[in-house]
Amino acid sequence: MQTAEVVIIGGGIVGSSIAYHLVAAGCKDVLVVERETSPGKGSTGKSMGGVRAQFATPVNIQMSLYSIPFYASFDERLGYPAGYRPQGYLFCATSDKHLAYLRTNYQKQIALGLKDARLVNAEEIRGSFPQLRSDDIVGGSFCASDGFVDPYSAMTGFMSWATDHGAKLWKHAEVTGIGHDARGVWEIETTRGKIATRKVVNAAGPWAAGVAKMAGIELPVEPLRRMLVPTEPFDQFPHTAPMIIDMTNGFHFRPEALGFLLAWNDPEETSGYKLDFEPSFIEKILTRAAGRVPIFENLAVNPKKAWAGLYEMTPDHHPILGEAPGMPGFFLANGFSGHGVMHAPATGKILSDLILTGKCDLIDTSLLCLSRFAEGRMIEETAVL
Ligand SMILES: Cc1cc2nc3c(=O)[nH]c(=O)nc-3n(C[C@H](O)[C@H](O)[C@H](O)COP(=O)(O)OP(=O)(O)OC[C@H]3O[C@@H](n4cnc5c(N)ncnc54)[C@H](O)[C@@H]3O)c2cc1C
Repeated sequence: MQTAEVVIIGGGIVGSSIAYHLVAAGCKDVLVVERETSPGKGSTGKSMGGVRAQFATPVNIQMSLYSIPFYASFDERLGYPAGYRPQGYLFCATSDKHLAYLRTNYQKQIALGLKDARLVNAEEIRGSFPQLRSDDIVGGSFCASDGFVDPYSAMTGFMSWATDHGAKLWKHAEVTGIGHDARGVWEIETTRGKIATRKVVNAAGPWAAGVAKMAGIELPVEPLRRMLVPTEPFDQFPHTAPMIIDMTNGFHFRPEALGFLLAWNDPEETSGYKLDFEPSFIEKILTRAAGRVPIFENLAVNPKKAWAGLYEMTPDHHPILGEAPGMPGFFLANGFSGHGVMHAPATGKILSDLILTGKCDLIDTSLLCLSRFAEGRMIEETAVL
């Protein structure tokens, strides 16, 4: 039987970052098991690539405070590109309630050491982006080190570095069963054969609950469809723009290639493994786009280029990280609720520390433990796009 010190189930950006951090910390006997013929076909390849530290909860802010500087130095550190572009995130408030919310978040972010965030007034937003309809904008917040990465490149960089330095990647190998014996050995059944290990990590993205179930663990992670619409080339809005968020309805957009990438989370969406793009979404999103940026009435969109992917949602919109209660050696890195790309570096560091040393100083890991749901210790994140 194949053996490995650590087996990681799932070769998306989270599994890849964990593999990188383990190998970089000296644990080279790592085997990543990915069911697809190539990694990136899960949520990672569908992501918008936004990275931000402008969150509402301290733990999410702390995860970004590790992850964003990591992305900034990724190319130099790993020798592979992550495509980090620090163009910022601009939240546009259209009510006093929004402004108070941004102010509270800003105070938490600054207190935790974020240097690049600031509150901006309506005149500054109008001056920077006269193309926005701004009659109802009352102010906002901006963070210059927020921005975008190329999720597929970052995932590939993490995994390539890990395999260059000793880790193994099994592609086209689906995990079909997970057993545990009295000696504390986990037996992982895959379509490429069995693997014995003492440490296993569930990094199966939106499919994490099914993988956990194989080990007898109930994991509150549900798939939720998100759709993105890229536009044809458009030069009437600056391509140096940040991610711009209309807080009225959550519509947001960023420059992408010669056009823009449009996003809006339809509140009517329901959970499930729905991976088809719904054509009626185009009209819904274009209405919101033109509502905030009147010249976006001239946008051209090819529906065939639009796509759908899955968020992995938890009840409190925070990930579930660490060893599963009562399951020694079974680790969880799941439920990123739309933030798995931006928090992949911190997740890799946290999981690697927990696996190799049993503790981690980056965050208070007890906050993100699976047991928080049963114990009524949920920590709601409201800044979810
Ligand atoms: C439209 C959209 C936009 C998004 N925008 C952003 C954004 O701007 N910023 C951000 O940070 N995040 C964003 N996200 C979320 C982000 O993409 C995810 O949180 C992240 O990719 C999760 O990474 P992962 O590695 O956990 O999951 P995945 O990339 O899904 O990887 C999981 C892997 O596990 C494999 N797997 C599953 N079951 C098995 C099995 N039984 N055996 C073996 N392998 C298995 C799958 O094949 C897959 O490759 C977005 C997501 C979507 C859908």
